Amino acid sequence: MRNSASENIPVVGRFAPSPTGPLHVGSLVAAVGSYILARQAGGLWFLRMEDLDLPRVVPCIADDMLSTLETLGFQWDGEVLYQSRRTDYYREAADELVRRRLAYPCGCTRSEIAQMASAPHEDGLVYPGLCREGLPPEKVERALRVKVYDEVISFQDGIMGLYGQHLTASCGDFVIYRADGPYAYHLAVVVDDAAAGVNQVVRGADLLSSTPRQIYLQRLFNYSTPSYWHLPLVTGPDGAKLSKRDHAVSLAHGRDLSKEGGELLASALRFLGQSPPVALEKAPPAEVLQWGVTHLDVASIPKKPGPFPL
Ligand code: GLU
Repeated sequence: MRNSASENIPVVGRFAPSPTGPLHVGSLVAAVGSYILARQAGGLWFLRMEDLDLPRVVPCIADDMLSTLETLGFQWDGEVLYQSRRTDYYREAADELVRRRLAYPCGCTRSEIAQMASAPHEDGLVYPGLCREGLPPEKVERALRVKVYDEVISFQDGIMGLYGQHLTASCGDFVIYRADGPYAYHLAVVVDDAAAGVNQVVRGADLLSSTPRQIYLQRLFNYSTPSYWHLPLVTGPDGAKLSKRDHAVSLAHGRDLSKEGGELLASALRFLGQSPPVALEKAPPAEVLQWGVTHLDVASIPKKPGPFPL
């Protein structure tokens, strides 16, 4: 797969962290991968704070993330975008789907769905479609769901290869808005990427299984689909998934990033299957990133998760 959207359209990449905890090695890998792939193609690299889920957002973390990225030599294009300021766009998009009868109000509670649903899928329960033909009179609207049809949505991931999902079997009609919460991540990400002209999405493999839902929404809105590159996940030393609550994996924890940033970035490059020279670790972070832009070979990025080589 080519690392560019097309001959004439410049690549537009982005990094979209959720400010629910300090930047950790997992998010560093996504930042490094998305930055290098965008710059390697001569493209733009935007930053977006995914701070929609306000109760989970930790105050000051977004600023803290920005200064960590700056210390590590990342330079982004344009203004940082905050999802919490873009609710009107998500509302407009959701309203459009309702108007076009592609989305509908749902009054089912989680426990009702759990009782009705067959076996849960990896991403949660499969919605059995109870409210699809109209909200039953005894129910109040709790969410908006988008209708999915009996088709497989597949795409060629630049790292993980061909990936597909049958939406009816894997999630059923899915939520784009909750009456007691924010617009759903899938809707926001699709609206924001399209608005910013993002055509290259590089992020962690935990979002691979979300991608078919996002491509499905792009098709409903007639947006073009970016190229996708899902990076291997960082695991803890015991092979378990890293948690943001795990303090030891916070980048700033016990480190002077202005001195140790180069080493950290070189480790991120090694995690991505690259071989930066050991001497480079002492270089300023921006130089290590530039080494990545010049040398990164996508074919060497592993598919399998693994521990971060610190
Ligand atoms: N905000 C998501 C995260 O921090 C990433 C979303 C995306 O890159 O599409 O995991």
